[in-house]
Formats: sequence, C-alpha cells, structure tokens
Amino acid sequence: MTENLPPCPECSSVHTYEMGALLVCPECGHEWPPATAESADGAEGGVIRDAVGNVLADGDTVTVIKSLKVKGHPTGIKAGTKVRNIRLVEGVAGHDIDCKIDGFGAMQLKSSVVKKA
Ligand SMILES: [Zn+2]
Repeated sequence: MTENLPPCPECSSVHTYEMGALLVCPECGHEWPPATAESADGAEGGVIRDAVGNVLADGDTVTVIKSLKVKGHPTGIKAGTKVRNIRLVEGVAGHDIDCKIDGFGAMQLKSSVVKKA
C-alpha cells in the first residue's frame, strides 16, 4: 500500500483513499474519478465540450461549425458537415475527436469546431 494518491482537489487533503473506481477525501467528503485528478493539465474535469458547451460522448453525431482546411484536399471540410459516431481521444494539439468524415476518411477534429447534432 505505497500508492501515491493525488491530494483532494477540493481541500488539498493528502489523506485520500480509493473506493472502487473513485478517490475519496475523508476530510471534506469529496469523491472523484482518479483520471480527473491526473489529467488536471488536460481538458477541464476530463469532460470534452463542443463549441457551445454541450458535453460530448463517444458515438455522438456532431456538426462542423466552420470550414476547415484539410491538407492535400482542395475543398476542405465545409461548415455544416455532419460527422457521425465520434470517438473522444486525447489527441495532439487539442484535437480531441477521432472520427471518419465522408470523402475524407479518418480525421481528428477539435471539439471547439463542432456542435452536437
Ligand atoms: Zn477534501
């Protein structure tokens, strides 16, 4: 039992312990999934939101809200393009959506350029 658990994000107590899939703080009662505490430098709270603040999930259909240039492609992705069955990833440079777009194939998009359909 020498695991180094992260301190409580609410009160910074170091007396946190694991309970199932959650970490628990005995001092303020805060419970949180460990992934959230570890990815403090990533997306806020581990939640990926679209351009208007909807929480996105794997399998969602989204609409691209602005035209995107695609390397090696003459037209790029037009605003209004529907993207089905997205997969949320920890991508590079803020590209947190993995998807396939008709005519383009597998792509990674930023959640800031899509809206949940
Ligand atoms: Zn606490």
